[in-house]
Amino acid sequence: TSASPAAETRTRTTCGYCGVGCSLEVATQGGEVTAVLPARDGPVNRGHACVKGRFAHGFLTSPERLTRPLLRRDGRLEPVGWDEALGHVARGLHAAVAAGGPDAVAAISSARATNEENYLVQKFMRVVIGTNNVDNCSRLCHSPSAAGLTASFGLSGGTDSFDDVERADCLLVVGANPVEAHPVVGARLLQCVLRGARLVVADPRAVGLALHADVHLRPRPGTNVALFHGLAHVLLAEGLVDEEFLRDRATGLPELTELLADYPPQRVADITGVSAEHLMDAARLYGRAERPAIVYGLGVTEHLHGTDGVRSLANLAILRGAVGTDRGYGVNPLRGQNNVQGASDMGALPDLLPGYGKVTDPAARARAEEVWGVPVRERPGLRIPQMFAAARAGGLGALWVIGEDVCATDPDANRVAEALETCPLTVCSELFLSETARRADVVLPVASWLEKDGTFVNFDRRFQRVRPAVAPPREIRTDFEVVHAVAAAMGVDLGCPTPAAALAECGWVAPVFGGVSHDRLDREGAVPWPCPDPGLPGETKLYRARFATADGKAHLAAAPYLPPGEQPDDDYPLVLVTGRRWAHYNSGSMTRRGGNLQLDPVDFLDMHPDDAARYGLRDGEQAVVESRHGRARLVARIGEETVPGQVFCSFHFPASGVNRLTSDHADTVTSCPEYKVTAVRVAAP
Ligand code: SF4
Repeated sequence: TSASPAAETRTRTTCGYCGVGCSLEVATQGGEVTAVLPARDGPVNRGHACVKGRFAHGFLTSPERLTRPLLRRDGRLEPVGWDEALGHVARGLHAAVAAGGPDAVAAISSARATNEENYLVQKFMRVVIGTNNVDNCSRLCHSPSAAGLTASFGLSGGTDSFDDVERADCLLVVGANPVEAHPVVGARLLQCVLRGARLVVADPRAVGLALHADVHLRPRPGTNVALFHGLAHVLLAEGLVDEEFLRDRATGLPELTELLADYPPQRVADITGVSAEHLMDAARLYGRAERPAIVYGLGVTEHLHGTDGVRSLANLAILRGAVGTDRGYGVNPLRGQNNVQGASDMGALPDLLPGYGKVTDPAARARAEEVWGVPVRERPGLRIPQMFAAARAGGLGALWVIGEDVCATDPDANRVAEALETCPLTVCSELFLSETARRADVVLPVASWLEKDGTFVNFDRRFQRVRPAVAPPREIRTDFEVVHAVAAAMGVDLGCPTPAAALAECGWVAPVFGGVSHDRLDREGAVPWPCPDPGLPGETKLYRARFATADGKAHLAAAPYLPPGEQPDDDYPLVLVTGRRWAHYNSGSMTRRGGNLQLDPVDFLDMHPDDAARYGLRDGEQAVVESRHGRARLVARIGEETVPGQVFCSFHFPASGVNRLTSDHADTVTSCPEYKVTAVRVAAP
């Protein structure tokens, strides 16, 4: 007789790939995932999901999955039990603090992990170690959004919900390729256009939405600030501004008006390569719309002047009175990782506590100290690039990297590897033996998003539940359990023993999340923040009454355009831009271990036919790419998606060496790397 098949179960959870936050139904049988289906009533996805969320779950049963902790002995990583691994980590952290003080320890938390795990990591660093040296990968992508939006409006989040954005009659989509990188949002934007909204796309490449645009602006990489000032110049010159809003709800108009006098369309055309005519067409579309909305991505932030870019873009919405009013849908960043918003919301940042209270603000510290029962350091901690610099200089005794393959994803990767190898204790929590794990002293195997309990916050500030669809392999623990276990090995009980308790405690530290709980999310599905009270619905649209700045006003910014860190020259005549493709996700550690690899098996170097002819490259053949920092090999793909002088590749295949090419130039305000502008040369091998 054959055994009866195990019954199918369904688990409702939130996608662990991009920041759209699609609700998924995960079907399992006998403890294995058999299908992932989009939830019909998902508040963001409404029955849709993309190729990543639906099909990229083969990594769960990959034979390459780490199943035991690893400890380096005599130069080699060897499997050990949890007690031995945790004891080694605890002794190493104690030793680092004893030798160099609390600031000799640093941790990189994870935008892939849940809110509760991020809350616990930052609490561990601040309470157990006694330092603010904790950061997350938003440093590498949207830290300029956090800084820029906070400076312009007061809070670090998109100003409107996506349900509002798709009611816009004009969309300005800047530096984003949502059709591939955020496909469910890409489809919703496209539907909005098909219903009649006008569309302006600003992106150097012919990204999917550009095919449907009324105007496609193709600025030279690194010239965004000049482009946005050019658009603002036209708005002012043609009276396409909301004077009442500017008088009553904004500051900084005289300074901006003076600055914009230097950005007439023809000068902007000279800087950006966008014709004055196109610039004026775009400004008039945005300026004459009744309900315009701005959506943007990493093409705005990952620059030497990324924060200035965000603020100059925000200027457009302020000039039009299209933020905090019914006359538009504000400024909305498309977050890359599933929980990059939440990791920052939870205070996994060196200068900000949960809920964005500054560590330098006595009132914010006092709130946290009352809950945690220990003093919080006033001095901001190290940012990720500063952690690596400190490690290389011998100033860091221990570094804990959680769920980030920093040796593959951070810029100037050779120097990141040097930092890890120099640091006396590197601990890495990972699913696979990543490039970072290979260099660690201790590797801790942890659970994936399909195996854990908690919440994520998506790109329009919605808390949603994450539930375990399957149990992790026997020896694997969640990050939540691991952080608790390391604290316990150091003799400290961190409290909040469950994810639900951790979110509740976070709400005491950060009242802006005080109305959100697991129980409520189980009943209601999604709750946006700010939500200070369980009886309130949460705010989908921010700033209706006042902006969250000290004076309650939106702040126009008057930052001049400054050139990018690298310019093409005779030795490196092309500009490399990196970004995402549809089937893969970030370093590809999960999407390359399963069926999605067949959909998109190699990384390509996209280049224009003129450049291919000039450098002797043919479609489908290997190309060697060199920058001032390193070398990579990619397969050339010839087409007109890029313009002459620019090449493009993804960062999904770290083995090709893409981030050995990128520079350590970084946003002057937030240290976000300038991934979008690297001068390179190409040749046949
Ligand atoms: Fe949705 Fe993004 Fe997941 Fe695709 S990757 S299913 S768009 S959340």
